[in-house]
Amino acid sequence: MNSNIPYKIYLSEDEMPRYWYNVKAHMKGGHEPFLNPATGEPCTKKDLSAVFCDECIDQELNDRDELIEIPEEIRSFYKMYRPSPLVRAYCLEKLLDTPAEIYYKFEGNNTSGSHKLNSAAAQAYYAKKQGLTSITTETGAGQWGTALAMAAAYFGLNLDVYMVKVSYEQKPFRREVIRTYGANVVPSPSTTTAAGRKILEEHPGTGGSLGCAISEAVEKARETPNCRYVLGSVLDHVLLHQSIIGQECKIAMDKYGIKPDMIIGCAGGGSNLGGLISPFMGEKLDGKNNIDILAVEPASCPSLTRGKYAYDFCDSARTTPLAKMYTLGCGFMPSPNHAGGLRYHGMSPVLSRLYHDGYMRATSVEQTKVFEAAVKFARCEGILPAPESAHAIRVAMDEAIKCREEGKKKVILFGLTGTGYFDMTAYKSYNDGTMTDTIPTDEDLQRGFETIPKCKANEGI
Ligand SMILES: *Cc1c(COP(=O)(O)O)cnc(C)c1O
Repeated sequence: MNSNIPYKIYLSEDEMPRYWYNVKAHMKGGHEPFLNPATGEPCTKKDLSAVFCDECIDQELNDRDELIEIPEEIRSFYKMYRPSPLVRAYCLEKLLDTPAEIYYKFEGNNTSGSHKLNSAAAQAYYAKKQGLTSITTETGAGQWGTALAMAAAYFGLNLDVYMVKVSYEQKPFRREVIRTYGANVVPSPSTTTAAGRKILEEHPGTGGSLGCAISEAVEKARETPNCRYVLGSVLDHVLLHQSIIGQECKIAMDKYGIKPDMIIGCAGGGSNLGGLISPFMGEKLDGKNNIDILAVEPASCPSLTRGKYAYDFCDSARTTPLAKMYTLGCGFMPSPNHAGGLRYHGMSPVLSRLYHDGYMRATSVEQTKVFEAAVKFARCEGILPAPESAHAIRVAMDEAIKCREEGKKKVILFGLTGTGYFDMTAYKSYNDGTMTDTIPTDEDLQRGFETIPKCKANEGI
């Protein structure tokens, strides 16, 4: 056992990576293009530029350059909370009595409480650089809204956050953090957009959904001068920004001669996992390693493990371009007793392609098992994990236990994406013993699949 490793490996500011890692450069043509739903043709830069910032579109469409320089202004922002520590989970190893070495990359050490700040900073910077004055977005649980509010405050942009109404009402503290950073929080559906008004008319009293909040934020961006929409996961440029996680990890591991046998991450839209694995996956695609890469999703929203690989809308209002991805159908809604995040119907097109081609695996876990792992982890490693992150903890623990049973020594790395201080209602239901698991039936999934568009590109699916 390699016990010469410190509990926490911190890089210095100088060692912080100067480049993001574009894994698509190793994917021989990236993935299938986004399609314009009106024409069925691949999206052009022009199609996208009414909604997204120019520089982000260039990054989105770039499958040539392996390394993309991180502008100095963004590095300065990153220095407020990066490099983030790579932690050797000695206490967890001891608790599990495992011969495995367990490491986690901790992204919760900033006020937003998650990795989402890595892309928020980049996207706010590019918006400012383009001369825009405001940006819009949606938020569900609130981590993304918080991260973007911090970045918008720093770079001097106005921000409207369309927050799913149930979260707006149930998470008043999250909402207040966002307002403290100067953003305007609008409960969605709202009367400020045509999309919101239409939904309110059809479903009076609705608590809203992410899909509806996206539609409102996109509409607002289209109709406000000098304004664009910003998305916190799924898209290739978001994964690119998140590759700072993997880049730092690789540097820290190389410095101590640590070679992971396994990398595990939770997957909602795929941005943290995509970012964590980027440089390792690049080497794997080049045949230079054979790391076992594993995505973990909730059993209640199993897009990779039970979804279809098809062209689908990225939002439930069916307004975005079509992306080829593993999807449960843009009309799919996880059961209301599903507590954590990771409730997106689709999955990053990059990860979908890599999964489809067999370069990574996926598994799903039930939420009571996830919270059981979260509580064990909190009590021995000290960090109170976000429920999303605890999906990765669950599987890392299971793998470490398997190592003990099989007498195998493996090096396991997982992504600890954030902290769970705003998820105490979910922890309460676990602690009270009232949390339940719901696994969608095949019929439930079939209803979602029926909302996948029946376009030409989906023939035979
Ligand atoms: C948003 C979020 C996730 C899931 O998003 P990905 O894009 O799949 O990474 C995971 N963990 C935390 C803490 C989050 O806030």
